[in-house]
Amino acid sequence: MNTEEIAQLQQDYLMPTYAPGIALVEGTGTFVWDAEGNEYLDFVSGIAVTSIGHCHPKMVHAVQDQVGTLVHVSNLYFNEKQPVLAKALTDRSGLSGAKCFFCNSGAEANEGLIKLARLWGSTQGKYEVITMQKSFHGRTLATLTATGQDKVKTGFGPLPEGFVYAEFNNIESVEKAVTSKTAAVLVEALQGEGGVIPAEPEFLSDLRKLCDEKGILLLCDEVQAGVGRTGKWFGFQNYDVQPDAFSLAKGLGNGFPIGAIVAGEKLANVFQPGHHATTFGGTPLACAAALSVVDVIEEEDLLTNTMMMGAYFVEGLCDIAVKHKKWISGVRGLGLLLGLVLDVPAAPLQKKLQEKGMLALATAGNVLRLLPPLNVKQEEVDQALMLIAEACVELHEESAALSPNPCECGMGK
Ligand SMILES: *Cc1c(COP(=O)(O)O)cnc(C)c1O
Repeated sequence: MNTEEIAQLQQDYLMPTYAPGIALVEGTGTFVWDAEGNEYLDFVSGIAVTSIGHCHPKMVHAVQDQVGTLVHVSNLYFNEKQPVLAKALTDRSGLSGAKCFFCNSGAEANEGLIKLARLWGSTQGKYEVITMQKSFHGRTLATLTATGQDKVKTGFGPLPEGFVYAEFNNIESVEKAVTSKTAAVLVEALQGEGGVIPAEPEFLSDLRKLCDEKGILLLCDEVQAGVGRTGKWFGFQNYDVQPDAFSLAKGLGNGFPIGAIVAGEKLANVFQPGHHATTFGGTPLACAAALSVVDVIEEEDLLTNTMMMGAYFVEGLCDIAVKHKKWISGVRGLGLLLGLVLDVPAAPLQKKLQEKGMLALATAGNVLRLLPPLNVKQEEVDQALMLIAEACVELHEESAALSPNPCECGMGK
């Protein structure tokens, strides 16, 4: 099928929750191809998912082997892959006495974290969860309520009770939100959907102190920042802070759906038989996929590559930002979770890049979010920088040609 045929079929049979423009049919490493054979440099990675690149041979083999051995047995039986993966994640978390629960997505992992916090707090009459403005935690009823953005909530009320919001990177705001009913604070070490905004180090350490003083849990949503994306195994490891538990999903399975809760000793044994469950969570197949991801990150030293390529990319992006300082205000992020922050909407730049054969994301209105795979090569970063530089020059020229008045031009606010 060509793109037009696929688009027509989609329009007829899929709910219009998304509005895609191109149809991708194949991928290798940092590149994908559309139905017409056009090549794209993929700096979206399925939104921080395909972190070891498309169709990494090690993952292909792991999944192929497992699919012909055992796919699913239910959690009523042991499956050897699950505890091996749990050990791999807890060992790397640095949390002592940690244990895992496996599920299928980021929203489901956060839903589980919220349930875990409520069950822990239930004996003390605590159930409130404080979350941050501009946060993103998922699309289930509890996680969209936890999300600090009104746009995901409109029309879905009545929403579950027990969520309170505070300002990210503002400890006084969190202090004010604490009540005798507060069970937990849920925070991203680096807000991804919110616009690639890293936590300030003092904010997270003050948050840890506040939680310890008040007997509140500190929970991290590591769905986007986790599994190497920031140059550390988990985003909070960029800070001198340990949460009581955290959630994972996106990068964990390199595209095979899997989510996880990793909980330190305070929470590791709170869920008992009957408290929480999932049919599909942690199948041998999902765990085999995730284990191959952990192996590749380790064997190919991708945490180092993420830090080095991240620093190199930031340097090049800063040069571009300086050249266009009238409408690009800067670069922010950690590792390979980066944002080029514009003073104008990011969608025209994202569109222009796509026309030039590069995929990137427009986030939070004015941020171009860049998420190459963790094994991206320097020459691919160079190619991206060249395309972004070209696109910026062209956009600048086009907007100037459209109107001499910057308020009325296509790039205007
Ligand atoms: C994507 C994301 C989620 C939701 O994950 P899904 O797998 O889409 O349910 C939750 N939290 C953060 C920080 C995310 O980036």
